[in-house]
Amino acid sequence: MPTSGSSWHQRHALNELINVSGTMTALGASLAAPGVAAATAEAMDHFVSIHEAQARASEAITRLTTAEAGFLTASASAGITLAVAGCMTGLDPALVEALPLHPGDRHEVVVQAGHLCAYGAPVEQAVSLAGARVRTVGQSTLCMDHQVLGGLHEHTAAAVFVVSHHVVHYGQCPLDRFAELCHSAHVPVIVDAASEYDLRGFLEAGADVVIYSGHKFLGGPTAGIVAGRRDLIRAAYLQNMGIGRGMKIGKESIFGTIAALEAWEERDHAAARAAETRALTVWMDALADLPGVTPRVVPDPTGNPLDRLQVEVDPAELGANAATVARVLAECDPAIIVRNHEVELGFFQLDPCNLKEGQAEVVAASLRSVLTQRELLQARPEDADAARNGSTRAYLQWGADTA
Ligand SMILES: *Cc1c(COP(=O)(O)O)cnc(C)c1O
Repeated sequence: MPTSGSSWHQRHALNELINVSGTMTALGASLAAPGVAAATAEAMDHFVSIHEAQARASEAITRLTTAEAGFLTASASAGITLAVAGCMTGLDPALVEALPLHPGDRHEVVVQAGHLCAYGAPVEQAVSLAGARVRTVGQSTLCMDHQVLGGLHEHTAAAVFVVSHHVVHYGQCPLDRFAELCHSAHVPVIVDAASEYDLRGFLEAGADVVIYSGHKFLGGPTAGIVAGRRDLIRAAYLQNMGIGRGMKIGKESIFGTIAALEAWEERDHAAARAAETRALTVWMDALADLPGVTPRVVPDPTGNPLDRLQVEVDPAELGANAATVARVLAECDPAIIVRNHEVELGFFQLDPCNLKEGQAEVVAASLRSVLTQRELLQARPEDADAARNGSTRAYLQWGADTA
C-alpha cells in the first residue's frame, strides 16, 4: 500500500536497503549504468522489428566479446536453456517446436559434478528445461580427463561449464582442457559466465557459446547475453518460436542492454575500482578497534577485479556469531544486506560494487552501532541455518502475511 513520504522507497511502502551483498536478483541486481534508463525509456515509445533490434544487439555483443554473433534473452538462466536447446535442434523448426517433450537424438548435456551448483535455481534445471538430461561427469571434488571423455557420445548435444563462486574450486577440469576434450568428440561447450567481468577470455579459452547477465556488473536491465559461434547462436535464437517464448526479452531491455554494453566500453574501470577500495578502507577503519571481529580484504574467487571485506567473527569474544550479526544488520534502517553465503564458517563479507554516494559511511556507522551494542546481538533460531534455508523461507513467507 503506497504511503506518503518523499523517497522512492517510502512512496512504494518499501524498506530501504543498502546492498553490500553483490549483484543479487533478490535485491534488484544492480544500479543502472549511465544511459541505460534513458535508452530503455526511449525504446518504450517506438515500434521496431525485434529481429532488427536483436541484430543491433548482436553488433554490440560481437564488438565487446569478439564472438561471431550474439542475441539477448530474459536472463542468463534463460540463456543456458536456449543455448542448450539450440545445440539439440540446430536450425530445424520442427525440432524446436517439439521441445521439451521430444528432445530428439542429441539430448544429453555433460556437466562436471562440481559445477552442478545453484545460482538461485539449480543449473541442472536450466538444462533440463530444454528437454535435455544432464550427464554428470567426475565427482564433486575431482574431474579427470577420462571422465569427461567417457561422458561424450553420439547422443551428447553439448557440454556446460559453469564459472561461479558457487562451484567447487579445486579438482575441476579447467576450461581450456574441457573444451579440448569436448571438441575432440565434436561437442560444443557452453560457458555460464553470468557474473564475470571478462567478456573475451572464455571464448579465447575454447568456449563455443558464452552467457552473461545484463543486469549484474554491466548495470543493464534484466537480460541474458548469449554470444558465440554463429551457427549455435542462430539455433539458440530460433528457440524464440518455441520454449524461448516464455523467456522473451522486449525492446526496452534490448536497447537498455545495448546501452549498458556501450557504457561498459566507456566506463572508467580504474576509477570504479578506486571507489570500491575507498569503501573497503572506510569499513576497515570502522572495525579496526572493535573486539570480536577481524576484517580482511579478500579477492573475488573467480578472479573478477573486485575485492571484498571479509569480517571474521569470534563468537566467544563478541557474544554472537556471524549469522546473528548479519541478521541484525539486515534489521537496521536502512537494512544493511551483507554477503552471507558462507556465514556458517564464521564470517560475512561486504561487497562494495553496488554502493551509492554516501552509503559506505552509512554501512560503517551501522557496523559500529550493531557491534558495540551487545544487547542487540541476541541469537534467533533462524540464524543457525540462515545461509542454507534462509532464501527458501523467504519465498515461502511471501504472500503469507495478510498485514
Ligand atoms: C547470476 C547467475 C546466473 C543467473 O543469471 P540470471 O541472469 O539472473 O538468470 C547463472 N549462473 C551464474 C554463475 C550466476 O552467477
